[in-house]
Amino acid sequence: MTTAPPAPLLVEDTHLIGGDWVPAASGETIEVINPATGELLARVPRGTAADVDAAVTAAEAAFPAWRDTNATARGALVARWAELIQQHEAELDRLESQEVGRPHWGPPPMARILTFIAGQADKVQGHSLPTYTPDVLGLTLREPFGVVGSVIPWNAPGPMFVNDVGAAIAAGNTIVIKPAEDAPLTPLALAKLALEAGIPPGVVNVVSGYGAEAGAAIPAHPGIRRMSFTGSPETGALVMAACAANLVPLHLELGGKSPQVIFPDADLDAAIPAIVAGITLNTGQICAAGSRVVVDRSVHGEVVRRLAEHMGRVRVGPWHEQVQMGPLINAKQHARVLDYVRAGREEGAELVTGGGRPAGEAFEHGFFVEPTLFDRVAPDMRIAREEIFGPVLSVIGVDGEREALEVANGTDYGLVASVWTRDVGRAVRMARGLQAGQVAVNAALGAGVIGGPFGGYKRSGFGRTMGADAVLEYTQVKTVSFRG
Ligand code: NAP
Ligand code: MG
Repeated sequence: MTTAPPAPLLVEDTHLIGGDWVPAASGETIEVINPATGELLARVPRGTAADVDAAVTAAEAAFPAWRDTNATARGALVARWAELIQQHEAELDRLESQEVGRPHWGPPPMARILTFIAGQADKVQGHSLPTYTPDVLGLTLREPFGVVGSVIPWNAPGPMFVNDVGAAIAAGNTIVIKPAEDAPLTPLALAKLALEAGIPPGVVNVVSGYGAEAGAAIPAHPGIRRMSFTGSPETGALVMAACAANLVPLHLELGGKSPQVIFPDADLDAAIPAIVAGITLNTGQICAAGSRVVVDRSVHGEVVRRLAEHMGRVRVGPWHEQVQMGPLINAKQHARVLDYVRAGREEGAELVTGGGRPAGEAFEHGFFVEPTLFDRVAPDMRIAREEIFGPVLSVIGVDGEREALEVANGTDYGLVASVWTRDVGRAVRMARGLQAGQVAVNAALGAGVIGGPFGGYKRSGFGRTMGADAVLEYTQVKTVSFRG
């Protein structure tokens, strides 16, 4: 199999402003690297505030006509976009796998995300309101904000792009979005298909570039009326500060330190493979990754032994080989994950398996790291509290339900939590007690639910995407009263 980029959907050297594929105002580009080999995949524009300004201007110009396009027609265009994505599924999957360095992980979800969103476009409704006197009518309208901004990360560029863009435009907004410097190719390809689907020029604008340049310029722009950010809490706080200066609402999705709570009555045959898959999928670079195992001491030994066994069987390699886990995204993340491994050992956790770069020539040029298991982790260690964003699993022993809940809830994050038990009463208590935006019982990364709202508690962020209200979130309410 070739590692060369596929041709038709690959956009090079240009990004999308007002329906035109243009270079950056600076004339400069950024290199996109294949993380498995260190080879150059493509170059994209190094956008800056000037490009963001041009994109906001184009989005402002496109807004009135798009807002006034009837909602059924807007939904149909989003659905047409989903169809084109479906037709190009294999190519998009290859492109995303290459830039993220991920082995195939099943059919890409972009088309179904957009199909779900498209169905909401013409179901955005207001209310009729009670009135004090019969000569008055009162109602609410749900209206788009105008130009909305978005900054997305590199770990799942395709799904992140359609989630934000789909919901924003279905509601009648226009958007300026910046993909991550490490994975802009899938977003640009998706934008190409949006144009081909007939979504008018200027409705979707993509500015590629670095976070501190193009990224920071989006929430700082006074033309942006609503913002969405997915990434680290540190950058999220910067984006929020910029939004505060302009008094603009925002949605933040900032990752997690999600617990996998295992009770003595758990079905370990189901739990062990699901937990290992949950921390090795996408090389642990998933906001929802279950990175802490909180296990009752009565089954602690058995759980660690079986986790280690399972982790040892995870094949690691470049995305195009028959492997389950690829490299990390870049040198910075590679160094960061290895630093956490060092911190874990220094703080006294026991390294059970993994912990380094896999041996062999094949791994020398990519950002590979072994699936890693730490036992005897204390809740106050850094590897138990901080998001590592790599295939590093920390096991913490507890005694009983109360301590399990306390430890599970004992981080600043609150994105996802899983409970493994056959006891329904305990499952109910845990589902209520866990401080997380999503709780799964006997499942690792959600349980195949359609339309579950997704978002965080605590430092994992706020706002919800993906649910039945995904499009509503991109609207503001206007109260209208009439006197006859
Ligand atoms: P990051 O800095 O938060 O990057 C996320 C996005 O924000 C990227 O598009 C980035 O651009 C952009 N960005 C960076 N600085 C910005 C700024 N000042 N203003 C506006 N946008 C800005 O995250 P990272 O450095 O790539 O990864 C670091 C850690 O963040 C990870 O180890 C992980 O813990 C966490 N993370 C979480 C998620 C998640 O899904 N919640 C996703 C990614 C990372 P460029 O990358 O192009 O510079
Ligand atoms: Mg980055």
